[in-house]
Amino acid sequence: MYKKLLFFISISFSIIAQKSPKEFLGYELGDQFTYHHQIVDYAKHIATSNTQNFQWVSYGKTNERRELGQLIITSPGLQSKLDAIKRTHLQIINGETKATLETPLIINLSFNVHGNEAAGSEAALGLMYDLAIKYNELVQKMAGKSFVILLDPCINPDGREAYATQFNRKNYFAGGNPDPLDQEHFEGKVSGRYNHFLHDLNRDWAWQTQIESKQRISFYQSFMPMLHADFHEQSGQHSYYFPPAAKPYLNFISDGTKQLQESVGKSFSKLFDSKGWTYFTSEVYDLLYPSYGDTYPILNGALAMTLEQGGIKAGLSQKLNNGDTLHFSERVLHHRTLANDLVNWSLENAEQLKSVFYANHEKARNNPTNQFKVYVIPQDQIAKSKDLIDLLRKNRIEMGLAGKEFSAQQPYSFFDDKNILNYKVGANDLIISTFQSASPMAQVLLDPVIALEDSVTYDITAWNMFQIHGIKAYGLKEKLVPVNNFKWDQVKNILENDALGFYFLPQNPEDIELLLKAKKMGYEIVFNDLPLEKDGKKIEPGNFFIFSKNKSLKDFTPLIRLADAGNISLNSLKSFRFDKGADLGSEHFKYFQTPKVAVIANENFDTNQQGELAYFFKSNFKSTATYIHLNDFLTKPIDHYTHLFIPSSNFKLNEGELKTVQKWISNGGKLICFENSINSFLNAPFDLGKNLKELKDTTESKDIYVLRERNALSSTIGGNLLEVNLENSHPYGFRNQNSKTYILNTSNSLFASSGDFNPILKTGNSPKVNGFLGSKIKKQISNTVWFGSKEIGKGTISWFNFNPIFRSIPTQGQTILENILLYSNY
Ligand SMILES: [Zn+2]
Repeated sequence: MYKKLLFFISISFSIIAQKSPKEFLGYELGDQFTYHHQIVDYAKHIATSNTQNFQWVSYGKTNERRELGQLIITSPGLQSKLDAIKRTHLQIINGETKATLETPLIINLSFNVHGNEAAGSEAALGLMYDLAIKYNELVQKMAGKSFVILLDPCINPDGREAYATQFNRKNYFAGGNPDPLDQEHFEGKVSGRYNHFLHDLNRDWAWQTQIESKQRISFYQSFMPMLHADFHEQSGQHSYYFPPAAKPYLNFISDGTKQLQESVGKSFSKLFDSKGWTYFTSEVYDLLYPSYGDTYPILNGALAMTLEQGGIKAGLSQKLNNGDTLHFSERVLHHRTLANDLVNWSLENAEQLKSVFYANHEKARNNPTNQFKVYVIPQDQIAKSKDLIDLLRKNRIEMGLAGKEFSAQQPYSFFDDKNILNYKVGANDLIISTFQSASPMAQVLLDPVIALEDSVTYDITAWNMFQIHGIKAYGLKEKLVPVNNFKWDQVKNILENDALGFYFLPQNPEDIELLLKAKKMGYEIVFNDLPLEKDGKKIEPGNFFIFSKNKSLKDFTPLIRLADAGNISLNSLKSFRFDKGADLGSEHFKYFQTPKVAVIANENFDTNQQGELAYFFKSNFKSTATYIHLNDFLTKPIDHYTHLFIPSSNFKLNEGELKTVQKWISNGGKLICFENSINSFLNAPFDLGKNLKELKDTTESKDIYVLRERNALSSTIGGNLLEVNLENSHPYGFRNQNSKTYILNTSNSLFASSGDFNPILKTGNSPKVNGFLGSKIKKQISNTVWFGSKEIGKGTISWFNFNPIFRSIPTQGQTILENILLYSNY
């Protein structure tokens, strides 16, 4: 048996001849768009051609069930030891053991995160072949030292397939039409840039809301690469971009990392110079926002880079403004050649890459750059911090209980955005020490002001997680060590024998799911619209009371089981009578109605928002929505919908159509407009123009040419965290005990409200702003409206002047949106 097994192993390691991409696919790389299943098949072919040193590892599936995987290439003898390698590597990162000469170099190359930047995956196929045929050369170059190369040929399979399929359908004449006006260069709403839910995966690394990111980052964290390269494409009119990156940088990026960035940039320059290919560096692509494929690995100690070939939307060929024609094959060649150079450079600089990576982690553990030594979440804030705690854990941030009392002097209060006199840390407060290898990640997510070297960036500039979630947390100058790992208690509900039912305040998607199921099962569900008190216990508005008038439905066991499974704490409802407030039969208890939702969709509406809404209904509200194309809207009755959502857009309805919508609202419908879509309702019969006045800056710009880019920023409204007052006695403001909150402001216009438009979110006289706000706007932002509603008959029209579900990052904006659906009958 033993002999037989050995024989079997020896043949399973045999090496078969690698087919080139052309031999495998039947065309040269860059002559066609390769379909995703062919990309996976080719990676598997390369893996089977040298099973001793190559391996294809599947790490998940996309929403549309496409395979996610990486080709793992190692120096001889490492494939069978990968688990041990990962274990030791994580121990070194955590300071539990030291790196040695045997410690392998681990690098990771990722392609096609934006599906329509299609040269990436084709270049990955070329790179796989190149590494397979020159494998022995790579091993020699390392002179006995170990390496692990992780190659992800397609981070966003659904997006890439959407792009390739659309292109092929629109390309009538084989080989591509270089005329930029040809339809094949236009994608429409379902842009391959995004994933299935129209989210940008290169904005999702830290938040990990999308299934592709969740699975990839768990794989990433198991390996913690020392280098990550993210292959993109930019406008076809541009040449090629590689490091060094543009400013602003985050302040903890070490000199070692900066030197490596310079060094790799020089290697690329030398290569491109020798080929006569033009390029640019240090412009546009900055390192600030933490959810990019370069910033996120940098926050995790790696050297990381964005690489941008010119070619987005260029199809198989495209005529450029300068008269040249850009071919797909050239775009693929540039990426492939650079990727080869990067692998060579990495192996040549392996020792430096390793030592800088481990030094970054050592510095993070022993000398963090965070503003505080510890962040404290008081015990009474822990329940509402679930989203935050999940997020921190997804990013390797460790936390635990304080274990003892401690009197902190002049701690910083995130909620008040200032230092207070003192705070007494309780033994059961949750603490996050910054002395850990993930401290840069904690810094970027939790510090109040992101330290910048400069301020011009092309994304949002603030995202403080305590402020976004309205958590009253503190930052301390004193060092505290958590006593143990924090764990959630497992809930076990027991209703009292004589209970008429139960009540609870929904906090999480599981709670909403329980409500929807209970409603479906036939239980009565009401919510209170004013504060109650029973036996000395205060019950805030927005609690749901579940009971039954039907004798056959007196058994609550199925619901209690669901609550236990979802870790939802229930309270027994022992009587319909309350000591303060009102009794359950009163008008102050409203019936919960299962929402029946429609979203108006159109190619020209905000693309991401259409996907974000779909993702919101799927993940937050555990329900569905009907997407009605604008052309079909009102061609059939809409009476059976309770809620109608309109993503940010510019469109016109005629008078008759507006009257139909108005009648639907009068009968109880809830219309929810996002950002610009309110413009369609400013005139009669809605006349919201009388309620909402846009504030415009009319001063003339006299910018000189070189300062144009910077001066345009003085009018920037969005991208920051803005403090707003919350009208929390209104049902849409329920489930938030605070009378102020921070919103992730994504707006590009300012409005003042008046008349019978009820502003539920509104800035005060001098609102706090965290992040960048244009200097001209600062003067105008006081007393502006950010969310509000107007009652029309039995229904309402509501309007958000920002995107409450921006990138699906959990925020209090999402809570408001949930409230519109939960508390719709009032
Ligand atoms: Zn891109």
